[in-house]
Amino acid sequence: MKILHSLCDTRHFVNEIKKKGLSMGLVPTMGALHEGHLSLVRESKRQCDVTIVSIFVNPTQFGPKEDFKAYPRTMDEDSILLKKEGVDAIFSPSSDDMYPQDGLAATQVFVPELSTLYCGVSRPHFFNGVCMLVSRLFHCIPADKAFFGEKDFQQLTIIKKMVRDLLIPIHIVGCPLIREKNGLAMSSRNRYLSGPEFDEASRLYLALSEARQSFYNGETSSHILTTRIRSLLIRNGYINMDYCVLVNPVTLQEEAVARKGARLLVAGWIGKTRLIDTLML
Ligand code: AMP
Repeated sequence: MKILHSLCDTRHFVNEIKKKGLSMGLVPTMGALHEGHLSLVRESKRQCDVTIVSIFVNPTQFGPKEDFKAYPRTMDEDSILLKKEGVDAIFSPSSDDMYPQDGLAATQVFVPELSTLYCGVSRPHFFNGVCMLVSRLFHCIPADKAFFGEKDFQQLTIIKKMVRDLLIPIHIVGCPLIREKNGLAMSSRNRYLSGPEFDEASRLYLALSEARQSFYNGETSSHILTTRIRSLLIRNGYINMDYCVLVNPVTLQEEAVARKGARLLVAGWIGKTRLIDTLML
């Protein structure tokens, strides 16, 4: 497994793959890898000849009061996991390579109508930073396919739109959300949770599942379904809700009437840890 740091080495590696006519899959991550990330890696290996995983804690997607400095960096453990999975290369660039200019002064990529909703309200920097980074990654590594988790459903939808709008010739593959045994969506930030918080966090999935069951029992009012989720989550005040919505999976606009295929999206804080989750009806 190659570890690529410089853009020059990366371009050379990528060109060699192209010359051989091999297909290339890219899995962008911020490291601190878990089974959710590895599921993307396995899907890339299933669909592509060569798999490259990028590991970069992207400064432009963190707000000034967010956890950029504290975000877990576990390169050694990550490399071992990826080697075991048979990954061909890790791309781990420096901030100076990704952002030769100061992040804020650099060219921005912004998907206005989708980036200002939901997570974009409480994290106004977030999707702008994600799009700045992912568009740069796609230029460094012109993969055939790039793999993203449905866990970050708004992010996945925004990246699909960015790729369409900017005519980037990479196929975006959405992969299913992987959960802990208690139902909590796996996330690098779960390691911030204390034992009781980890148990409490499983309520997110339980509440979403109950709402989905109500839908299958005949309830089609989006208002009733989302109100039910909120009341289940805030019952003992442990979870500080950010938002809970039922949306169209392509436009991300809120749906008044629930229908099969619509997406429940929920976000909240347990202590200082922000968690998101999603379930398809
Ligand atoms: P991150 O390192 O948090 O930026 O995530 C990198 C990629 O892994 C993103 O496409 C995420 O959506 C995906 N991912 C993170 N957690 C999960 C999960 N529990 N299940 C599936 N994909 C995930």
